Amino acid sequence: MADRPLAAVLTVGTEITTGLRLDTNTAHIAAACTAAGYRVTEAVSVPDDRDRIASAIARLARENSLLIVTGGLGPTHDDVTREAAAQALGRPLRRDPALVERLQAIADRHGDERAREQVLGQADVLEGARVIEPESGTAPGQVVEAGSSLVVLLPGPPSEMRPMLEEVLGSRRTAPEPIVLRCARIAESDAQLRVEDALAAFPKIELTLLASPALVDVVLMDAGAGRDALVEAAQAAALALGEACYSMDGASLPEAVVRLARATLCTLATAESCTGGMVASAITDVPGASDVFVGGVVAYSNALKRSLLGVPEEVLAEHGAVSRETAHAMASGALRLGARVAVATTGIAGPGGGTSDKPVGLVWTAVATPERVEAYRLKLHGDRQGVRQRSTVHALDFVRLTLERM
Ligand code: ATP
Ligand code: MG
Repeated sequence: MADRPLAAVLTVGTEITTGLRLDTNTAHIAAACTAAGYRVTEAVSVPDDRDRIASAIARLARENSLLIVTGGLGPTHDDVTREAAAQALGRPLRRDPALVERLQAIADRHGDERAREQVLGQADVLEGARVIEPESGTAPGQVVEAGSSLVVLLPGPPSEMRPMLEEVLGSRRTAPEPIVLRCARIAESDAQLRVEDALAAFPKIELTLLASPALVDVVLMDAGAGRDALVEAAQAAALALGEACYSMDGASLPEAVVRLARATLCTLATAESCTGGMVASAITDVPGASDVFVGGVVAYSNALKRSLLGVPEEVLAEHGAVSRETAHAMASGALRLGARVAVATTGIAGPGGGTSDKPVGLVWTAVATPERVEAYRLKLHGDRQGVRQRSTVHALDFVRLTLERM
C-alpha cells in the first residue's frame, strides 16, 4: 500500500498572525487529518491579505492532495478568502441562488446597503464547488476539486468550522484511527525505547510520543500496515510498556481510575495537603464519579490533619507533615470517610519551604485499604504547579495500581 496522501492546513487571519487570537484550528484540523489517514506536510498562517492567501492556496494545493483553509469567509471587508481562492485556482465566483435566498433575511436586518451586499457576498461560490451548509453562523463552507487536489474552505470560528470538517473528512477516511497507549510515571524516552523494540516487527506503523507532566501518550498510526496489524502492534507495545500503560481506548487516568473502581466495587476518598484538592477535582471531572467517590479532605494545616484525619500529634511532631508516617496516617484516616480505598498527598511544592533534608519537590503519597497501607516517596521536578500536577498524577496512578490488584 502506498504511503499516506498528503494534506496541508492554511489558517487565514490577521488576528492569528499578530497573536491577538490563538490558532486552535490548526491543531484540531491537523489531528483530524492525521486520524483520517493523511500525512500533514505543512501548517501555514497568513494575514487577511488577498495576494498572500492566494499564493499560499496555489502552492499548498499543488503540493498536497488535501488543503483545508479556515477563516476569512465572513461578511466583513477583511474576509477575502473566497476571492483569493478564485484567483489561486482560476475559478470564477458565482452567486448561488439558494444561498442568496437563505442569506436574504439576514441581509435585510441591515439598514446600510453596503452591509446587505457584504452579507450576500457569502453566497459567492467557486465554480464547480460543493457547498457545506452551516449548522450555525452564516458563512457556508466550500469544497472544490482543483487538479488532483481537494481544496476545502471553512469559516474561522471553531464552533462553525468543526462540524463542517467532520462532514468533509468523514467521507474520506482512508486509514484506521490511531491507537493511543496512555501511560503514567514513565519517562518519555523509556517509553519510546520500549515501544520501538516492540515495533521492530511492524515496519508500517508510525510512532509519536506526547508527554505532559508525569504522563506520556504513545500514539501508533497506521502508515500502510492496515487495521489488524495496527491492533497487533498496539498489543505488542502495551506488553512492552507493562503496568505503566493505563488505557488503550482514549480514557484519561481519572477515567481509568473511576472505571476500575466501578468494576471492583470500590469506593474512593482523598486526603490532600500539597495538591489542595487537585486529586479530588480530577476524579470529580469524570461524569458519574459519584458512583465511586465518597469525597475528600483538604487538610493543609497540621491542626486539620489531626482533627479531620486523626493524624497523631506525635507523628507530626516526630516526623513532620511531609513524611512517610504522616502520609500513611492521612490515608488511613481518610478510610474513615467511608471508602474502600483512600489516597493521601503531602509534600513541598515550593518555591520556598525546602530544606536539605526535605527539598522542594519531595512528596509523600500513600494509598490505604482496610488491609494495608502503602506509602511512596517521590522526588518531583518543576515549579509549584508542576510539582502539584505531578503529585496528582502519581497519586491517581497509585490508586489505579491498587485497584488493578484488587
Ligand atoms: P465570520 O463569519 O465569523 O467572520 P470568518 O470565516 O470570516 O467567519 P474570521 O473572520 O477569519 O472567520 O474569524 C472569526 C473569528 O474566528 C476570529 O476572530 C477568531 O476568534 C476565530 N478564529 C478564526 N481563525 C481561527 C483559528 N485559526 N483558530 C481559532 N480561532 C479562530
Ligand atoms: Mg470574518
